[in-house]
Amino acid sequence: MSYHPLLTVEDVSKTYDGFKAITNLNFYLFQGELRTVIGPNGAGKSTFFDLITGRAKPDKGKIEFGADPAASHDLTELNEYEINRLGIGRKFQTPSVYVEHTVWNNLVLSLKGPRGVFASLFRKLSSTDRDRLDELLKLIRLSDKRDWNAGLLAHGEKQWLEIGMLLAQEPKVLLVDEPAAGMTDEETHRTGELLIELSGKHSIVVVEHDMAFVKQIARDNQVTVLHQGTVLCEGKFDEVQSNQKVREVYLGRGKHGTR
Ligand code: ADP
Ligand code: MG
Repeated sequence: MSYHPLLTVEDVSKTYDGFKAITNLNFYLFQGELRTVIGPNGAGKSTFFDLITGRAKPDKGKIEFGADPAASHDLTELNEYEINRLGIGRKFQTPSVYVEHTVWNNLVLSLKGPRGVFASLFRKLSSTDRDRLDELLKLIRLSDKRDWNAGLLAHGEKQWLEIGMLLAQEPKVLLVDEPAAGMTDEETHRTGELLIELSGKHSIVVVEHDMAFVKQIARDNQVTVLHQGTVLCEGKFDEVQSNQKVREVYLGRGKHGTR
């Protein structure tokens, strides 16, 4: 375990037409961590992911990737594709699976290798790839639906498939945006179990505002509270939950505080 962060975000700001979406943000993610980032709507959570993944460029500040300080990458210099290739995978809030393809083929299409649907589907998979995808199917609990068209899956299952598609690319960092949105309580709980299982092997940032879900996955991990584009508070779930500032801006607002 390295003591240098895998992902360093330092003094980062981003404005849109004068509106401060992110202000002097500091964030450090360590290898194998499962970090939850919470905050009310508009706090800047998705923008934070946009900045890490190169979808948006910061006005100022440092965004670096790599646990070895001598060989880290300056992400502000790279485009979305290059950042993804370095091993930073993002899952957007709405699932985007290939609805006309089977669950299995969705995973095949996500493997590193030839680009383009035809090239991917008609290549011969190595037995290593096959075994890996079988493992992935088990992990995302879709083994018995491998031949289903993805369009027929329930909302929660589509989300899991998309997590599987990300994992097929063997990312080092997984950025997951509000995975529990629109899920039933049971789906939400299973999603939490999945993320807990993935932590350690992967370094994960989960953005969420469902508190029951955050409580489930945070356990002994750090929770970061974003408010108006900056870090309001960081700590264990219980510390964050009892923090007065957090209660005022977020938990106290009722609607978002409970499910
Ligand atoms: P969250 O994900 O926490 O709900 P967002 O990061 O989506 O918040 O948004 C933070 C603020 O930044 C919002 O007020 C939003 O309108 C603004 N914002 C985000 N992206 C853009 C953009 N591409 N253009 C203009 N404003 C944006
Ligand atoms: Mg968002």
